[in-house]
Amino acid sequence: MEILVCVKRVPDTAENEIIVNRDGTDIEREDLVFSVNEWDNYAVEEAIQIKDKVGGNVTVITVGNDDAEEVVRREMAMGADRGILLCDEAFEGSDGKGIASILKAEIVKGKYDLVLTGAQADDGAGQVGGMLAAMLDWPFASLVNKIEVIDDKKILVGREIAGGNQEINEIDLPCVLSIQTGINEPRYVGIRGIRKVASADIPVHGANDLELSPELVGPAGSLVKRLDFFVPEPGEGAKMLEGNTQEILDKLVEILKSKGGIK
Ligand SMILES: Cc1cc2nc3c(=O)[nH]c(=O)nc-3n(C[C@H](O)[C@H](O)[C@H](O)COP(=O)(O)OP(=O)(O)OC[C@H]3O[C@@H](n4cnc5c(N)ncnc54)[C@H](O)[C@@H]3O)c2cc1C
Repeated sequence: MEILVCVKRVPDTAENEIIVNRDGTDIEREDLVFSVNEWDNYAVEEAIQIKDKVGGNVTVITVGNDDAEEVVRREMAMGADRGILLCDEAFEGSDGKGIASILKAEIVKGKYDLVLTGAQADDGAGQVGGMLAAMLDWPFASLVNKIEVIDDKKILVGREIAGGNQEINEIDLPCVLSIQTGINEPRYVGIRGIRKVASADIPVHGANDLELSPELVGPAGSLVKRLDFFVPEPGEGAKMLEGNTQEILDKLVEILKSKGGIK
């Protein structure tokens, strides 16, 4: 089975203090520590496990700048066979539709049975997987937490639905699935794995290679315009706990005890 996993390089929330930039249009991105989007890491692990069961190849792909190559290489160190970087100045400022258009242009050049995305990334729109499926005219299932291959034409997918209930569907290949965290336990990436792929070739494709017309991507192709970006004022009754992690935990336990939440 030929599996493609879409991965995004995102600010690591455990490693950074996230602040809004001066213009109030985005977060301050200078000096941030980046890593692979958590959901995408689960998707790559799932793809590797499927490959180990039924054979085939796992390719990881990202749309980003030169720095985004590091997440492709990291996921190759995890066990993906190939990586592709989609990078072009024309792609900067794309909205979710732009990102899906760029991914689609690459996907139709290859031959994939299964495309996995994360359920959501740092901007939290959860748009790219569904839009990509619609653009490819392929079946789509979101919030997938179980995959079982039936044969080379069909798979079973489990979905998390309201109230913690579970749904199982049969879906035709090729298809796009957005993967929920918790579907598996992503393997540890060791220094040996990283060394092994340190000099692996990662092709870089731009707008011309993908024959993408400029009006589909970048600000010109964005149908969603970001107007503002801010930290909301704490709501009435909300209390922000200050201090280091231990101090915050202690205060939280005190509050929960005082309200009878715990003994
Ligand atoms: C007007 C506008 C301008 C913007 N300008 C910029 C900008 O200049 N620079 C910038 O970095 N962002 C920019 N963004 C944000 C950018 O559009 C988002 O990164 C993109 O839409 C994905 O959104 P998300 O994180 O909500 O992804 P979701 O839809 O929540 O992601 C779901 C899944 O889609 C896949 N996916 C998402 N993004 C990528 C990617 N880049 N490569 C591969 N797979 C991916 C992953 O599998 C991910 O788990 C802009 C957004 C708007 C609306």
